[in-house]
Amino acid sequence: MSHSRSPLMHNHVFKMLGVNSCYTRTHLCDGSKLREIFFAKALSGANITVPHKEAAFEACDEIRGLAKEIGAVNTIVNENRRLIGYNTDADGFIAAIQSFGPLRNALILGAGGTAKALATVLRQNNIEPVILNRSANRLNHFIKNGFQAFSWDTFTPDSYDLIINTTSAGLSDDCLPVDASLLEHLLLSARCAIDVIYGKETPFLREVKKANLPFKDGSDMLLEQGILANYLFMHGLISTDIIRPIMKESFLY
Ligand code: NDP
Repeated sequence: MSHSRSPLMHNHVFKMLGVNSCYTRTHLCDGSKLREIFFAKALSGANITVPHKEAAFEACDEIRGLAKEIGAVNTIVNENRRLIGYNTDADGFIAAIQSFGPLRNALILGAGGTAKALATVLRQNNIEPVILNRSANRLNHFIKNGFQAFSWDTFTPDSYDLIINTTSAGLSDDCLPVDASLLEHLLLSARCAIDVIYGKETPFLREVKKANLPFKDGSDMLLEQGILANYLFMHGLISTDIIRPIMKESFLY
C-alpha cells in the first residue's frame, strides 16, 4: 500500500535494536507471483496487504495459528526456504480492543478479508460477531462457518457492545459504511466503536464521536499487528515487550 506506515514502524525497530534488516515495499500486481518474487528478492519475511492476503495463504508451505481458519495470511516468514504464513491482523485487533473492557458481542460492518479475520478471532475470544454487508455475495464464507451474516436487505438490528467498520467506506471518499439513520440507531445501544482505517477521521468515526462513545481508529490495530509481525520476522528472539515501546515511538514521526 503506497500510504502504508509499516516501513517506518519496522525499520525503526530494526535500527534501535541494531538488527541488520530493512523493510521496503514491493508492488505486487499478480498474487500468483508472490512466491517467485519472494525468493527472487531473497526476502526473509514479508507483510501482505489488500488484495493479496488469500493468494499469500495459497503461496505458503505451512500455515500457523488462526490464519488456517481465516484463510488469509498477512505475514510470511522464510524458515529454511519454507514459507510460513501467519495472520497477525486478527490478534492485533484483539490487543487493540482490550482497552474497551469486557464485550459480549460485536457488529462487523463489511465482509471482506479483514472482516473474516476479525469474525474468527472475536468468536475465539468469546465475543459473538454478527456480520452486516452492503451486498450478499461475500456472505457465504461467514454462513458456511456458522456466523450470523446479513446484507443490508435482510438485516434486523439488535444491540451490540462494539461496532466495527471494516469496509473501505471513508478511506478515500466521504461515505458512511451503512445508512446514516441505521448507524445512529446502532450507536444508541453500543458501548464503543472502532474503525480499522487509520490516520484519518472517517465519516463513521465522526458519527461515533457525535454519539459520545469511546472509540479508536485503526492505529492501535496497525501497531499491534506490526509488533507481532516484527516478533515473527526476528524468529521470536526478541520479546514483544521490548518491540512494543520502540515501534510505538515510530508513530510520533
Ligand atoms: P476488502 O476489499 O476485502 O472488503 C471491503 C468491504 O467493504 C466489502 O465488504 C465491501 O462491500 C465494503 N464496502 C466497500 N465500499 C463500501 C461502501 N461505500 N459502503 C459500504 N460498504 C462498502 O477490504 P479489506 O477487508 O481487506 O480491508 C478493509 C479496510 O481495512 C481497508 O481500509 C484496509 O486499509 C483496512 N485494514 C486496516 C488494518 C489495520 O491494521 N488498521 C489491517 C487490515 C486492513 P461489498 O461486498 O458490498 O462490495
